[in-house]
Amino acid sequence: MIYDLIIIGGGPAGIAAGIYAARQRLNTLLITKEFGGQIARKAVAIENYPGFESVSSLDLIRKFEKHLKKQKIDVKLDFAVKVRKTGNFFSILVKSKQKFQSQAVIVASGADPRFLEVPGEKEFIGKGVSYCVACDGPLYSGKEVAVIGGGNSGFEGAIALSNYTKKIYILEYGPKVLADKTNQELAQKTDKVEVITNAAVKKIRGKNFVNSLIYQDQKSKKLNDLAIEGVFIEIGSQPATSFVKDLVDFNEKDEIIVNFKTGETRTPGLFSAGDVNNLSFKQIVIAAGEGAKAAMAVSNYLQRNK
Ligand SMILES: Cc1cc2nc3c(=O)[nH]c(=O)nc-3n(C[C@H](O)[C@H](O)[C@H](O)COP(=O)(O)OP(=O)(O)OC[C@H]3O[C@@H](n4cnc5c(N)ncnc54)[C@H](O)[C@@H]3O)c2cc1C
Repeated sequence: MIYDLIIIGGGPAGIAAGIYAARQRLNTLLITKEFGGQIARKAVAIENYPGFESVSSLDLIRKFEKHLKKQKIDVKLDFAVKVRKTGNFFSILVKSKQKFQSQAVIVASGADPRFLEVPGEKEFIGKGVSYCVACDGPLYSGKEVAVIGGGNSGFEGAIALSNYTKKIYILEYGPKVLADKTNQELAQKTDKVEVITNAAVKKIRGKNFVNSLIYQDQKSKKLNDLAIEGVFIEIGSQPATSFVKDLVDFNEKDEIIVNFKTGETRTPGLFSAGDVNNLSFKQIVIAAGEGAKAAMAVSNYLQRNK
């Protein structure tokens, strides 16, 4: 069977694309590793998605998934490994070795957390190193931990961690933190959060589990050994594009370059939406809007190519 459209990704962009595609009566398959995408990493309530004054990430994901599954759309929980185009058709190979075909594709694969790339990081993943406060925070009850990154994600992570942990150090590489004032004030209020700026993490150490990290003070050049039992890395994200790299162009941030009017990439019929592409501002409402736009553009593309 050849689908009209295959969507890759089950975050806000992919889900909105799926809902719009189904309503356009496109015969659609959505392939995703899981539902929710980066929303699942949100450690405190979401307060900027219209219609929801305050909603937990889990609740919003459940609502997205339920809304999608109400549509006439096929869903495959799997991981896209490769997208190819032959003639007018795309074929998508997934990890379980199945192949699917379609006339158009929307890449809505978002972004994965960025690695710190220091010794000890990969060795201690799941043994004290985490990229998700919302998922792993409660495991650090009563402990001292570090959050790497002084942006909004780092501060929100620290605020959430203050519910369980004894002490949280936020280590920021630059001379000042970049989080919103609101997040900075909320973190201060907890009196468990200590911010260390100009801190370049050099190494994560431990035996079976993390027990400290070494950072360099960028001004004095002094190396410091910080005793902690958990390290939460919140230093941004990397677009998830490995499966499509032969068919698209990238900007300097490795984001897929698209036509901003339609979301179409340099390959006709291959569209992209959400955090994976080069459009400004990475937010849930924007990703959802871009997903809707791409699905409508696919509908026009299919009409034109009938
Ligand atoms: C900690 C944190 C807090 C945030 N807080 C907010 C907030 O308060 N408000 C706000 O508006 N935004 C917030 N954001 C940003 C928001 O989460 C993103 O902008 C949004 O999730 C992007 O949606 P997306 O669908 O483009 O990508 P993603 O959410 O990244 O979803 C991508 C989906 O694609 C799937 N996928 C990836 N690769 C493949 C593959 N090869 N095959 C199959 N499936 C694949 C993933 O599993 C995932 O389901 C936050 C982000 C983070 C990390």
